[in-house]
Amino acid sequence: MKTTEAVTLVATRLAAAGIDEPRREARMLLSAALQTDAAGLLACDDIDEACFTPLLARREAREPLAYILGKREFWGLTFATSPATLIPRPDTETLIEAAIAIFPDRRKIRRILDLGTGTGCLLLAALHEFPEAFGTGVDLSAAAAVLAQSNAAQLGFAQRAAFLVGNWADALSGQFDLILSNPPYIPAADLTGLMPEVKIYEPASALDGGADGLAAYRAVIAALAALLAPNGAAILELGIGQQNEVTKLVENAGFTATARADLAGHPRALVIRAK
Ligand code: GLN
Repeated sequence: MKTTEAVTLVATRLAAAGIDEPRREARMLLSAALQTDAAGLLACDDIDEACFTPLLARREAREPLAYILGKREFWGLTFATSPATLIPRPDTETLIEAAIAIFPDRRKIRRILDLGTGTGCLLLAALHEFPEAFGTGVDLSAAAAVLAQSNAAQLGFAQRAAFLVGNWADALSGQFDLILSNPPYIPAADLTGLMPEVKIYEPASALDGGADGLAAYRAVIAALAALLAPNGAAILELGIGQQNEVTKLVENAGFTATARADLAGHPRALVIRAK
């Protein structure tokens, strides 16, 4: 069939499966199935249904597009994805915007830490913006640490990043100028209400914030006194509605906290500094 017919067929089936942007996803799935790009897809005039049926069936089962394609853009960089980690999200780019805003003198930032690094997206985007920095990424999942290492190599940061397996800061010593973290923050009872892509396919360990959603914040904030360099900053991602509770934890630990909003206007990045 022709490209336009294939796009319409795939988009109709995706829409019936409850997917939000069916035509955009249809074009991306077809490009992946045909191992081509958007321009290559337009140039196809004889698409065999059998070649896209397997990928379409996966997406109809609500497997995230990023797992099917094996990659996702974050901060203009391409990250390999796998079910071992959370898929990078645009909201999380707010943490990089916050880092740039508070450290205009980019060359002064030398040591960056990312706790719960996943794909490595926060750490590697930060290394992209802070050219003199060396990055350390920690994840409890060995598979995540291996994926992040491979993303670092793919993006040309192999010489500027190290990844290790550990429980938050337990394996670390020393101080960092910039500490980033997108911790799991969904209250455990809310996990069952998440969209199927997240609930069924993304790792619960990257989402589950314990009974009140704040368990990981407590662990990360408790480690800051030892890890944060005197003029440094820690920037944590916030879930919806968590600004006040996390700010309280930060202030009780003796730091100041200021929030930065994401594009939807939600306080998304909490900037933590010494008083
Ligand atoms: N933003 C993710 C979601 O809503 C949650 C990520 C996290 O727990 N850090 O699915």
